[in-house]
Amino acid sequence: MSRHPAHLDIAAGHAGLAQVRQRIADAAAEAGRRAQDITLVAVSKTFEASAIEPVIEAGQRVFGENRVQECKAKWPELRSRYGAIELHLVGPLQSNKAQEAVALFDCIQSLDREKLARVLADEIQRQGRSPELFVEINSGEEEQKAGIRPRDADRFIAECRTSYGLAISGLMCIPPADEEPALHFALLETIARRNGIKGLSMGMSADFETAIRFGATHVRVGSAIFGERHKKIT
Ligand SMILES: *Cc1c(COP(=O)(O)O)cnc(C)c1O
Repeated sequence: MSRHPAHLDIAAGHAGLAQVRQRIADAAAEAGRRAQDITLVAVSKTFEASAIEPVIEAGQRVFGENRVQECKAKWPELRSRYGAIELHLVGPLQSNKAQEAVALFDCIQSLDREKLARVLADEIQRQGRSPELFVEINSGEEEQKAGIRPRDADRFIAECRTSYGLAISGLMCIPPADEEPALHFALLETIARRNGIKGLSMGMSADFETAIRFGATHVRVGSAIFGERHKKIT
């Protein structure tokens, strides 16, 4: 990791980041957990480098993006300037972008179908680069949403492991907007535990404290750090 002037190395250098860090620390303490066991993934989708830089300068080193192309346009330059930055893909991945995704990301949180498992396994072999892989679970079984249905999760995870030799580090879910997220977080934790999976990526700006109570190891927080997004997300 590159060194920065000491005066930049404080979360207080960015109000949104400092607040979110404090809320994570408080939620962890309340849950009897250690804050350092919870990774804050700062979701910077739609924000330009100029909005991201102050967050890096305040010490944040883990970021999430939801599109391969956008990530490719923004991050190589920021990485060359600031050194080691961990990038997580939190949006859907098309098979024809798997090559770029394996090259660019340290963690792919949206493994959600067999074809993608196969293509990722091939790319990991070919590139000799192994991003962490999280299986996305469609915990609310919503038609329009990506992810494996809860009832198919055990079979899919087993298939990733045995047929494709993939190491599955975690599970990810995005609960339905109009439902109590706690039920979904509890379900994700149950599926992870019975499959011997440690990583739990759950909780966004509106509900990350609840997710921490239910065992989140990764919270994906965008607007609470960066402010409201103005560009439309599809
Ligand atoms: C945009 C996004 C987030 C962050 O959402 P906020 O509500 O802005 O915190 C988290 N996870 C995924 C998958 C996203 O697409």
